[in-house]
Amino acid sequence: MKETSVSIADISALIALAGGIVPADDRDAGAALVHAGPGLAEKMRRGPFGSLYAQGILAANSMAQSSFGCLVSELGAFEVQRVLEWLLVHEAAFFRQLRADVCGMYMSDPAVWQRIGFPGASSDQGGYPDFTQPPTNQPPTNLPTMLITPTPLASVQQFLSKPIQMLIDGKWRDASDGRWIDATDPATSLTIGRFPAGTSDDAREAVQAARRAFRGPWRRMLPYDRGRLLFKLASLIECHADELAQLITLDNGKPLWEAKKEVGTAVSWTEYYAGWTTKLTGETIPISIPGQFLNYTTREPLGVVAGITPPNYPLTMPLYKAIPALATGNTVVLKPSEDASLVALRLAALCMEAGLPDGVFNLVTGYGETVGAALAHDDFVDKITFTGSTEVGRQLVKASAGNLKRVSLELGGKSPNIVFADADLEAALKGVFMGIFFCQGEICSAGSRLFVEESIYDEFVSQLATMARSVKLGHGLDPETKMGPLVSKSQQQRVLNYVQIGNDEKAVALSGGQAPSGSLASGYFVEPTVFAQVNNAMRIAQEEIFGPVVCAIPFHDLPDATAKGNDSPFGLAAGVWTRDIRKAHQAAAALEVGTVWVNCYNAFDNASPWGGFKQSGWGREKGPYGLDLFTQTKSVIINFT
Ligand code: NAD
Repeated sequence: MKETSVSIADISALIALAGGIVPADDRDAGAALVHAGPGLAEKMRRGPFGSLYAQGILAANSMAQSSFGCLVSELGAFEVQRVLEWLLVHEAAFFRQLRADVCGMYMSDPAVWQRIGFPGASSDQGGYPDFTQPPTNQPPTNLPTMLITPTPLASVQQFLSKPIQMLIDGKWRDASDGRWIDATDPATSLTIGRFPAGTSDDAREAVQAARRAFRGPWRRMLPYDRGRLLFKLASLIECHADELAQLITLDNGKPLWEAKKEVGTAVSWTEYYAGWTTKLTGETIPISIPGQFLNYTTREPLGVVAGITPPNYPLTMPLYKAIPALATGNTVVLKPSEDASLVALRLAALCMEAGLPDGVFNLVTGYGETVGAALAHDDFVDKITFTGSTEVGRQLVKASAGNLKRVSLELGGKSPNIVFADADLEAALKGVFMGIFFCQGEICSAGSRLFVEESIYDEFVSQLATMARSVKLGHGLDPETKMGPLVSKSQQQRVLNYVQIGNDEKAVALSGGQAPSGSLASGYFVEPTVFAQVNNAMRIAQEEIFGPVVCAIPFHDLPDATAKGNDSPFGLAAGVWTRDIRKAHQAAAALEVGTVWVNCYNAFDNASPWGGFKQSGWGREKGPYGLDLFTQTKSVIINFT
């Protein structure tokens, strides 16, 4: 790609404009200076929008000169806002691209992201400013009817232009019976590509290849060299970030700014575990057998690891399984979700480009009942690492009994998000909103049960519904889109079915409650839905919906909130919003969940353990805990008396 030259003056202008796009608080302005300026300059230099940026900066500076007599970088905050308003009208393409890029960058920093919150239609709601709306405290309530579908990058078009094969033993292959699965864009329901519908024979062959590779090159490779290959993979993912982000959006439906955040996590995750390859140590144990003995332990890989993943994070989920497994010396057969396999297939190509030996990473696409079940039953698989529904998790446990293969499970959730009246309610509102509507609510940790203290219940829930009505649905590649479609027709139907159940149970939908009409009707959209007058015994409060639907339930005190919060078969995560440190600790101690977030929500980190209590799963991924899932301890006792 041709590079665009970027001057110091261009970078200064970009810093000023980025500072105007994020909400005006000091810390974010500081972050704009540190991250956005250089980051945007890099996008301008190398990205496909270099000339658009150059033209936009020229126009911004000439507008600033003629209106204020100086360059954009010399303007105060008020004047920068006027320049941005002007750009929206006169350089709309530049303005939108700039805003999408700034928000994409900010969203990759969880701390900043937490403060900015989920992008609403205006900065009043914690999102980036929407200059299309006059300043007002009332969020708009109109949903768009136009579906805008920008053209994907040439590299994405090329990847999708022919049938995509799967990877077994380093070779690209069709399914053994020649069948295919159509990949659809969930925003339009149009077919955008196709990939093999693998068979149980294909699964078996991949397992055998992984077994040979485990006994062969991978196990013998020095930890440092294994780490270098994984670092190279991380760097390839980063180099292909824009392409992968677009593929995520086309495959899964989520907006591009969320997809970019996912790619950022993919890079940092791969680097995090690549670093562990040289740090896996055992212990020396002071045993008490008379004589002279040395007892030490080593951490050994398990063998062939099969990863089975859902569609909601089509890039990071496969990596959550594959990278710690590979870093600890195992080989991998991955089966991504049939609803979103394109990104994983592109990832497989990057694994080959990084130089992973044949058979170390295999990818078999196909249906759960065939490929997934074959892997679970295969006696040559040593470990299943699964993320998906509790129902399928239960089946995998049964299927694994044959060779007693190890199983770790990241399953469903119905997480309580508890708001006390003494909380910073503005922050709580943003956190609750983002907690349920991020990723279209298709996230295991979704704060889908909202518990609000009685004294503020009506006001808080009504404000949440107003915010929900302001969300712009659309194609994820349209920079204006705040929320995309659900991943599949069947998921859309499932969510709408639960909305009907909620109506039948006499809950009251204050917002949403249906699939939008107009040009969005052909996609798998569901309007963000806030149910009030819910009690915790209702089906909509007990069963996982996995979509943009929140059930608001009142409570009167802390014991009531935590008792209701715990009254669920799930125990994945919980949120607590309060200014009272005692309440925060008491609630954290009482909640039966794997993760408690206090005054934040969906704050994830590669180093922090993740996993569920109760029927939300077995085991902990991430951080050093994740290493335990893929290693076994060997004890060596030497008599040197
Ligand atoms: P799902 O259980 O239907 O499918 C997940 C994967 O399992 C897919 O690849 C599917 O093909 C495969 N599968 C289906 N039937 C199978 C079988 N009989 N044998 C082997 N494999 C089989 O789940 P989904 O609808 O794709 O994903 C949503 C679920 O995932 C939700 O319950 C959500 O909470 C959960 N999830 C959990 C986490 C977590 O970290 N705890 C993260 C994301 C999603």
